[in-house]
Amino acid sequence: MHTKLFIPGPVEVLPEVLEKMATPMIGHRSKACAELQKNISEKVQKVFYTKNVIVLSTSSGSGLMESAIRCCTGKRAAVFSIGSFGDRWYKMAKTNGKEADIFRVPDGQATPPADVDAALATGKYDLVTITHNETSTGVMNPIAEIAAVIKKYPDVVFCVDTVSSMGGTYIPVDELGIDFCITSSQKCLGLPPGMSIASVSEKAYERAKTVENRGLYFDIVSLYEKAQKKYQYPSTPSISHMFALDYQLDRILAEGLENRFARHIEMAEYTRDWARKYFAIFPDERYLSNTLTTVTNTRGISVADLNAELAKRGFNISNGYGDLKEKTFRIAHMADCTLAEVKEVTDAIVDILGL
Ligand SMILES: *Cc1c(COP(=O)(O)O)cnc(C)c1O
Repeated sequence: MHTKLFIPGPVEVLPEVLEKMATPMIGHRSKACAELQKNISEKVQKVFYTKNVIVLSTSSGSGLMESAIRCCTGKRAAVFSIGSFGDRWYKMAKTNGKEADIFRVPDGQATPPADVDAALATGKYDLVTITHNETSTGVMNPIAEIAAVIKKYPDVVFCVDTVSSMGGTYIPVDELGIDFCITSSQKCLGLPPGMSIASVSEKAYERAKTVENRGLYFDIVSLYEKAQKKYQYPSTPSISHMFALDYQLDRILAEGLENRFARHIEMAEYTRDWARKYFAIFPDERYLSNTLTTVTNTRGISVADLNAELAKRGFNISNGYGDLKEKTFRIAHMADCTLAEVKEVTDAIVDILGL
């Protein structure tokens, strides 16, 4: 029996999307492949609401996160972390020998825009990282307010991790002034893991050209230039992912972005109400994620046992992340998931626990 995933990546992938992964190969330097990358780029620009260059990477999202902080930090990076994935960006900076400071709020809270303002006002930083949707805690940052502050500092390269939100919620990249916006295939886009996508502004590209030791595989200068000039990839990309991505982007645009975002909000509101009724919501209520809900384990149940029982019925949810394991659990409602499917899993939880 197939176990349906309600975890925040990888997500369920529709059979017809999986089938596209089995398309016969084409040469990566062929015209057909450049055409494929061009089509993907144009559709991704719509999902991201951007005119920036679209870069693909045969890696998970972490690859392009590392690329961003390594290639675009000249002086010093200000890393605003609200959880484990924000912390990861700081580790990437340090392990690449970059100067960086981390500004961390407790789990469940959002980044205060005033803190970003105060840090950037020191003039010490030329790059800032923000986690849009922190998957470890279920917080969605107030990105418009944060972006408004960052606009006051035009020399700062603005990097955003939208790995678990792009394609599931409205993120107008150009309006927000995001220079480097990163996502992964296996979350709200509803594809298998193994490819990440970013929009990169000319400002981020110009900065990267001045930075030494950018490495080779994740050098954003070469990824950007190949994509911009020829719709090509410096090495051999996962062409299978590209076939599936091209097809899935057609599906996403056919659903309509507004409809897709509304579907995510509907699923989120249902799941939050359910969580409030039987447990409690973990994050600050003002900043709840539209793509996953983190539930506080107020009943002291064994989340591991619950998941084992759910597996017998063909469902899989997520335990809390890191230190939040067993203290919380997470239900993802992203990509092509429907409200009816979310209800199936919450009904199963109620039944198993006898609530
Ligand atoms: C999943 C996730 C990542 C890591 O992405 P990978 O594709 O696994 O490398 C980073 N940030 C957030 C917010 C995520 O949800």
